[in-house]
Amino acid sequence: MVTGSEMESGDNYNQAKEIATAAVAQLNYLRIPATPENYALWFTYFSKGHADLTSTVDGHLAKPGSFTPELCDKLYKQFVSSDNEREAVQQASASMQDQLQNVMRYLGDAGDETAQYSDALEEFSGQVAEADGPEGLRALVAGMVAQTQNMQQRTQELESELKSSASQIESLKQDLEQTRMEAGTDELTGIPNRKHFENQLRLMTEEAMETGDELCLVIGDVDFFKKFNDNWGHQLGDQVLKLVGMTLKNGVSKRDCVARYGGEEFAILLPNTSLHDAVSLSNQIRLAVQSKKLVKKSTGEDVGQISMSFGVALYKRNESRDDLVRRADEALYTAKRTGRNKVVSQQEAALAATG
Ligand code: GH3
Ligand code: MG
Ligand code: MG
Repeated sequence: MVTGSEMESGDNYNQAKEIATAAVAQLNYLRIPATPENYALWFTYFSKGHADLTSTVDGHLAKPGSFTPELCDKLYKQFVSSDNEREAVQQASASMQDQLQNVMRYLGDAGDETAQYSDALEEFSGQVAEADGPEGLRALVAGMVAQTQNMQQRTQELESELKSSASQIESLKQDLEQTRMEAGTDELTGIPNRKHFENQLRLMTEEAMETGDELCLVIGDVDFFKKFNDNWGHQLGDQVLKLVGMTLKNGVSKRDCVARYGGEEFAILLPNTSLHDAVSLSNQIRLAVQSKKLVKKSTGEDVGQISMSFGVALYKRNESRDDLVRRADEALYTAKRTGRNKVVSQQEAALAATG
């Protein structure tokens, strides 16, 4: 068993590798199922960045037999979930890379040994030509049979190492996908997904109810995106969605929440922000999106620009979350109907509806 304080520090990559190995070894040692949560718990522990977790775990480690899957579950919820989970996802990627490196190493070893074997065969054929009498030949053949058996055995070992690596990679991949989903990250853009957005919407509306602070919701949708896909292909469309996600994220501050709401729609939650400020921030983001010059990497072709339309709504105390979303949606619809590439607030949308 290893404790966090015994880990050596190295460069980032080697460190992540050491931490991943220690986490897996610890799970094996304690006979705890290697679920993503348990893995994240021990990864965080060996990362040594979490003093409270370290002291709590060390306390339990001092009492042999106290680690059960239930305890891990409790510690995970207490110390690791939410924000740390996202970090754990990244680090799980590093251990997947490790496994891939193992495979490369096995393949390299196999190559070396095959080369040695073929050298031996060559030498054997030379010796056969010079062998004097049946006795000499028999000795040569016996030697070669031993070499061949050796090679066969080594090949089998390598094969089983490869198989076990492949299955570990597969299960790490599944863990990673699962953790990603749970951590609320959208696969394509890497920004929070709809599930994360719904959670944040709930938390932020509750907070706004309590404090009376203003809270705005912005929904943005890429204009004529179907046409873009038709013209340039779905793959380039995907790249554009990534770029949009990044642009939106860079356009807001840390306390805000940007998420991929679905398809080519994005949502932004702006706590402590007036409708007026939310509209001007959305306009800044709109201009940032519009100013991106898009180039098809494979051909260097200029594919022009894209634009987005936005609807902005202000949370009303005691209203349902659905009502807030509906108002932002209506404003977005008005933006689309009245020309696109624009920001429309709930007030303007209401005016447009009556006027
Ligand atoms: P509008 O300005 O009215 O929003 O027009 P639009 O073409 O953007 O809207 P529409 O709803 O007709 O089409 C949305 C398009 O977005 C169609 C769909 O293929 C594309 N889309 C949705 N999700 C993805 C995705 O993940 N990747 C790519 N490449 N395209 C997507
Ligand atoms: Mg849409
Ligand atoms: Mg659209």
